Amino acid sequence: MQAICTECGTIYDVTKIDRPVPKCGKCGNILRPNVVWFGEKPRGLEKIYKLLTNSSIFISIGTSGIVYPASEFYLIAKESGAKTIFLNIEDFHIDADQYFPGEVAVLLPHLVDKWIEHGGISFN
Ligand SMILES: [Zn+2]
Repeated sequence: MQAICTECGTIYDVTKIDRPVPKCGKCGNILRPNVVWFGEKPRGLEKIYKLLTNSSIFISIGTSGIVYPASEFYLIAKESGAKTIFLNIEDFHIDADQYFPGEVAVLLPHLVDKWIEHGGISFN
């Protein structure tokens, strides 16, 4: 529920989608959804890599695991010592410490409740 300016990068909270395409209040260029579209380089990649190398747990939620650079995130985290958890409807035979097959919208709330109930994530 955010939009980002295509020119200056200002981020806006969005409560509804209007037409014509909304424009930036600072520079006047058009806004777009603040997401990473297929083929784009994620914004803040340097920060992402820093977080990956300092994480103790990496959770992949509903991804194919084949689109670069996101596909290498779990490897960077794992090589830096993080435990890895994958939730996906498809088992793409990735080398994760834990794999939960199924629909993420169903799995995730159940897992989060379980993790809260047990005071964290167990890898035993
Ligand atoms: Zn702007």
